[in-house]
Amino acid sequence: MTDVLPPILVTGQRRQIAAMHFPGRMNSPSGEQPIEVSGEGDPEDPPIYDRCADPAQQVDWNADAAAAEALRRFQNSAGDPLLDNRERSMVLIRNPVTGMVTAENLEVGVPGAGEVPFNVDGFGWANVVGLIHSHPGSRSFPSSADLYNYPVWQGLVTQAGGSQGLRLYIVGAGNDGPGTPDRLMIRVYNQTNIASGEQGQAGPEVNQNALPCNV
Ligand SMILES: [Zn+2]
Repeated sequence: MTDVLPPILVTGQRRQIAAMHFPGRMNSPSGEQPIEVSGEGDPEDPPIYDRCADPAQQVDWNADAAAAEALRRFQNSAGDPLLDNRERSMVLIRNPVTGMVTAENLEVGVPGAGEVPFNVDGFGWANVVGLIHSHPGSRSFPSSADLYNYPVWQGLVTQAGGSQGLRLYIVGAGNDGPGTPDRLMIRVYNQTNIASGEQGQAGPEVNQNALPCNV
């Protein structure tokens, strides 16, 4: 089976280039052992895979869905579909009991300031699995400030007892190829690819229709 799978090297509901479909929850990402939840060993009953059956992939999946919800909140708070001239932020909090990830504490920056704080009031840093903010009128690459601050934010999470692998979601303008209009995109970075963002290699795009594991 693995020889017919597309070369998707991502988890969650993400794609590397706009020409690709977003991988489905039941698609096996290449290079990873699929999670078989039924049909084991029975040729009459083909295997079904479920990323949400893997606790590690489930966090990505739910965090991506929360990032998509955060973008909807950004859009609802903005007059311009490209999110005017203020940065916006939310924090993505994983409930340690249910595993659900929710977008919390919308912050809207000062016009033109080029920065916005992350607000963890009421939650603390321990259960932060992702941070999302917008770059109005700009691309969804990490800024020099983002690159500087990423390990600081990760440190706040780990010092509070949270886990490594903080996801940094950046909303910015992008398009689907030459001649196509700009639209809002969410791209995601972590410690494995944030440095390549500095070199102009965009992180995977997150599906704006992403849904969490429990639906
Ligand atoms: Zn930024």
